Amino acid sequence: MNEKLSNPQKTIEVIQKYDFAFQKKFGQNFLIDAHVLDKIIDAADVGPEDFVIEIGPGIGTLTQYLCENAREVAAIEIDTNLIPILQDTLSAYDNITIINEDVLKVDIAALAEEKNGGKPIKVVANLPYYITTPIIMGLFENHVPIESITVMVQKEVADRMQVGPGTKDYGALSLAVQYYAKPYIVANVPPNCFMPRPKVGSAVIRLTRHKEMPVTVKDEAFMFKLIRAAFNQRRKTLQNGLNNSQEISVNKAEVVAALEQLGLSPTIRGEKLTLEQFAALSDLLMPQ
Ligand code: SAM
Repeated sequence: MNEKLSNPQKTIEVIQKYDFAFQKKFGQNFLIDAHVLDKIIDAADVGPEDFVIEIGPGIGTLTQYLCENAREVAAIEIDTNLIPILQDTLSAYDNITIINEDVLKVDIAALAEEKNGGKPIKVVANLPYYITTPIIMGLFENHVPIESITVMVQKEVADRMQVGPGTKDYGALSLAVQYYAKPYIVANVPPNCFMPRPKVGSAVIRLTRHKEMPVTVKDEAFMFKLIRAAFNQRRKTLQNGLNNSQEISVNKAEVVAALEQLGLSPTIRGEKLTLEQFAALSDLLMPQ
């Protein structure tokens, strides 16, 4: 099948031909709007040199666009019922590998090594929303060579990734994403661009991996424990929140002394601290 799937009629035709039943548990909301697909491809800046990984190809709507623009594409899909459909809808392309697996179980660093000689890859996807955070954090934390991640996510999650200190959406996800990458919201996408329509608004976000880390920190793992502890009880002051944490062992006096050294108020809340300030606090509080 060579025809583009990016419209409601074609999508319905494929679904009926294969008697496909949407599985809610897999977060299946397929794109049916060609303008949105063009925007994703433009934002991802996919070109003939690129090896691209797509997570959750569905019936192959975005995959067709990727195959036409990239050198090579690997698409990882968990739902076995979609595999024969993908073999049909992508039959015109010889630069696609379909992997029937749970993305969280795939060694993506090994895949990048095999297909792209370990050079940084682009990840492009309309993500299953129930596992957005583990997918993105997994890519960053597992030392996958990443150039950029351009993904459709829930609007609220895109906002959380992009905001800075002092806003209600600011939290551990904002800091983790911004430690590794520069986020940029490309477009907001309404529910009517999907089949079936999701209950929430969506947004396309591009995360461009930093070439050099924006902050230096002695113990990255400890900094992230500190950040999680700080936002676990976000209405509490940092000295109380950290003191109550199971994950790290610091007492109030140590926190107050470290805050003082950084010129910060002893009653400050975690939501006011920048990434640089968390890194400095981590260096002062890390176990010796
Ligand atoms: N890319 C298609 C599109 O834009 O029309 C489908 C996107 S849909 C939001 C998410 C896709 O991810 C579905 O095809 C779903 O089956 C797949 N998926 C869900 N959980 C997954 C997992 N753990 N590993 C790989 N794919 C998964």
